[in-house]
Amino acid sequence: MGKLGFVQVEVSTKCQLNCPMCPRSCFKDEWISKDMDLNTFTLIPFKRFRYAHLQGWGEPLLNPNIDEMIEMARKHCKVGLTTNGLLIERYLGVVLKLDLLSVSVASANPLTHHAVRGFNLEKLKRNIKLVSESRKAKSKPKIVIATMMLKNTIETLPRIVDFALECGADEVIANNLDYIPSQSLIGQEVFGLQSNQQVEEILDQIKMKAKDAGIRFVAKQVVMDEALVCAENPVDNCLITVDGKIAPCVYLHLPTRSDYIVRHFRGKRVEVPKVYFGSITQWRKSDIRVTFEKRLQVLYQYLPLELPALPDVCRSCYKAWSV
Ligand code: SF4
Repeated sequence: MGKLGFVQVEVSTKCQLNCPMCPRSCFKDEWISKDMDLNTFTLIPFKRFRYAHLQGWGEPLLNPNIDEMIEMARKHCKVGLTTNGLLIERYLGVVLKLDLLSVSVASANPLTHHAVRGFNLEKLKRNIKLVSESRKAKSKPKIVIATMMLKNTIETLPRIVDFALECGADEVIANNLDYIPSQSLIGQEVFGLQSNQQVEEILDQIKMKAKDAGIRFVAKQVVMDEALVCAENPVDNCLITVDGKIAPCVYLHLPTRSDYIVRHFRGKRVEVPKVYFGSITQWRKSDIRVTFEKRLQVLYQYLPLELPALPDVCRSCYKAWSV
């Protein structure tokens, strides 16, 4: 049997920060902050996947067993994680074992970054440079700067290319605010049903700047369009939560005490049930996975095929709308 795609593993739901767009800040009264234990981690069938991303809703370097976890997973597949970067210096030897290190940066503007993250952008840059200057082969770990396109920071986005260059990073990914956990965040997203000329021009400017700098730049789509399958692709990929449950993606799981997830979709508050499976086999047979698999079949049909509707829990997820 061929290998599955990626397994995302929520090794910690703790975080030192309190970023306003993070569900951890929005649902702090019901958040369950904990680390995945080694026994649970040992049960994950890494050999069935090509890649493991050790991050869910939380900061992975806060798990005291992160070194051992990376060692265990890398025996079977490639391994990466996304970090806020605060602990890179302490865990330098550990992150150098990764195939991919993604560092989340709120903005390349020092004041904005400090306002959102509460820590110094220069210090973060020094931490990332430690990795780029210490890696033996230029390609490993691949260093990705992950940032978010927001209405109030999009104008300063081109500076992220300079930041990436100064850090020695390989790639910049500009994500969308694709999960809106709180009403106060509505309107901060830059995507919409129609193209926004200002946003498109800024993205074109960054693409040219990145090309000149020799840095790969990937921006998420900013016009909504129903996807055959979302980028999380639950046909091939899944999430293992901090408690060892299997979910189709992070958007159908939150480490909170509620059985429901609150989303704001196109200006409206929506509640969807969390979705978990007891085993990899149950996930493979699940309605969500089978529905997306059928939707993908239209790519291989000569005759027009009726497209199955998006699963109920996905209709109000922006990932299903390609952003
Ligand atoms: S569309 Fe569905 S499966 Fe895809 S990310 Fe959203 S909730 Fe998850």
